[in-house]
Amino acid sequence: MKKWSACPSQYCLAVRRAGAGRGLFALEPIQKGASIIEYVGPTLAEEQWLNSRNRYLFKVTEKKTIDGWNKRNIARFINHSCRPNCVIKISKGRVFVVANRRIKPGEELAYHYGKEYFNLYIKPSGCRCLRCTPKKSAGRAARASDG
Ligand SMILES: [Zn+2]
Repeated sequence: MKKWSACPSQYCLAVRRAGAGRGLFALEPIQKGASIIEYVGPTLAEEQWLNSRNRYLFKVTEKKTIDGWNKRNIARFINHSCRPNCVIKISKGRVFVVANRRIKPGEELAYHYGKEYFNLYIKPSGCRCLRCTPKKSAGRAARASDG
């Protein structure tokens, strides 16, 4: 798994096995508000993404859609969460994953995929994010630290 480790910005991240397949994990503390990683890929023309069944398309604006299914785009491993620790920030047509709270080493990165995507791809099979399916062993501890 070590070959998947990457430091695209100032942060070290790693792809590891997660609740929903693979996920992207922080290997070091990340400050709230920090830009962690950019969602990168070729820009698709409208007729390309309209005909695509690719789930890694990221609609940046009405005119611009990024195809995230490429090796360089480690951000594609970030899973959906209903209570995420990251948010998406779009700046000048580029897509960044930004920490919306302090993230500890070993924590999985997640952001909310958006209502449209959620209803289309996640809801039908049931959401498997940490909030919707708390681990049995960690359930009590998580609830205790919630308040
Ligand atoms: Zn969920």
